[in-house]
Amino acid sequence: MIDPATPLGALLRLSHQLGDPQHSLAILGEGNTSTRLESGTFLVKASGSNLATLDENGVVECQPGVLVPLIQETGMADAAVDAALLQSRVRSDARKPSVEALFHAWLLNLPGINFVGHTHPVASTGILCSPLGPAFAQERTFPDAIVCCDVESVYVPYTDPGLRLAQEIATRTEDFLARHQRPPRVVLLANHGVITLGRTAEAVLAAMLMTEKAARIWLAAAALGGPVCLTPHDRARIAQRPDEALRQRVLKL
Ligand SMILES: [Zn+2]
Repeated sequence: MIDPATPLGALLRLSHQLGDPQHSLAILGEGNTSTRLESGTFLVKASGSNLATLDENGVVECQPGVLVPLIQETGMADAAVDAALLQSRVRSDARKPSVEALFHAWLLNLPGINFVGHTHPVASTGILCSPLGPAFAQERTFPDAIVCCDVESVYVPYTDPGLRLAQEIATRTEDFLARHQRPPRVVLLANHGVITLGRTAEAVLAAMLMTEKAARIWLAAAALGGPVCLTPHDRARIAQRPDEALRQRVLKL
């Protein structure tokens, strides 16, 4: 077994946790994970491999320098994006990275972000396929959602997967950064799924599981005439409480 204290070991463990069938976050080849390496490259799940059973052969090491500049490109053809994905591999005999490696590369470039996870969770994606997606991103219904997922999530309207989606994620994440002076923990993709990002693999897992729990609570509250959401004052209070900051440190968030 690969040491979970190494970046590859932590990435594989995070992948297995996100792919665990009990969480209903991803089936078959859905979802992907990535981590930044000290060498400046990053590891990302290869296209088509399975999160629950991921091993080192299903992971590919890529150069962000090939992918991140594409976020500024307009009108790139699918074939050119594919060629760039293949060119980004450190080893030319490695498997092809997922087209979602584009947003992984960009998010891993943010300050303090070492891990990114992406899944298609049942309850969260259900809300993101409804008119209430933007409200689910902006509101919080209970304190632990703030501890693990911050005071709001980034909301991205449905966008064609690949380069266009990575560009839309970048634009809306930059807007969050400008307003909060820190990266978001959760990016919600309408009609698609959820991305979580953080300093540690634990933070990525916690934000993903808590987003999905918040979605299930939201659905339960909606059946009873709600949800009733926390006020902006209550949200800000939780975000600033010293005991919650201590809990975040203990949980490696
Ligand atoms: Zn996806």
